[in-house]
Amino acid sequence: MRLCRYDDDRLGLVEGGEVLDVSAAIEAIPASRWPAPPGDALIAHLDAVRAEAGALAGSAKATPLAEVTLKSPVANPTKVIGAPVNYAKHIAESQADPQIAPGQKILGIEDYGPFLKASSSLVGPGEGIALRFTDRRNDHEGELGVVIGRTGVDIPLEAAGDYIAGYALALDMTVRGNEDRSVRKSLDSYSVLGPWLVTKDEVADPNALDLKLWVDDELRQDSNTSFLIYNVEKLISWCSSFYTLHPGDVIMTGTPEGVGPVKAGNTITLEIEQVGRMEVVVRNA
Ligand code: MN
Repeated sequence: MRLCRYDDDRLGLVEGGEVLDVSAAIEAIPASRWPAPPGDALIAHLDAVRAEAGALAGSAKATPLAEVTLKSPVANPTKVIGAPVNYAKHIAESQADPQIAPGQKILGIEDYGPFLKASSSLVGPGEGIALRFTDRRNDHEGELGVVIGRTGVDIPLEAAGDYIAGYALALDMTVRGNEDRSVRKSLDSYSVLGPWLVTKDEVADPNALDLKLWVDDELRQDSNTSFLIYNVEKLISWCSSFYTLHPGDVIMTGTPEGVGPVKAGNTITLEIEQVGRMEVVVRNA
């Protein structure tokens, strides 16, 4: 199932080129009072929402995808986790290009540990990217996003797959420079997730997906998640050794080679097989 959040927080079921309005399925989420339990309530109750959405689909109003504004399919993650240098060829380009990591020795992912992006940086493809610090290099990083389905800590590798709710396309936008990653990758709109959540049953193997990214008509990134150094299950287990994972938490799995700068007026197109394709317009803040 492909579930999207669109326009004024409508819930959509995506079929073909259309969005079916299944917003009434949100009623399957139990009401909560302060303090709300940590995590995204829709993802925490995804099975109930899916059942309701499926029941509503037959009589739902359909709108062409091109006519809606797509928001992040996860509204309230407790955190967006990033995986640094998780493709060997991206490490090589970071070592070769002094603008990517100025003055820094490039270590391995096991040395850095995961990093956090502010959840306030999260937008959907329809909202676009608003660049700041435009005198510096602002790069695209196209990545597979994994959405966590339930709470877990110290998750064993062999159980990691049970904690996946689904997948989405992710852009880990980055200002290049010397500040900590959590600063440079956490600006408003610097985390794009979309165009929808694909539930995990639709993806046979997340570690074998073609990933392509274009800036306007130029193909910049062309790889496959089989080249991940820490694959999806390893990332879940590893991240949960540092942080308790909650429903709706997002792991951006790392970017392959081909990162590069974007400017206002560019359109970034990201495509991952079995997950989807999204176009994101870049502007100045
Ligand atoms: Mn990244």
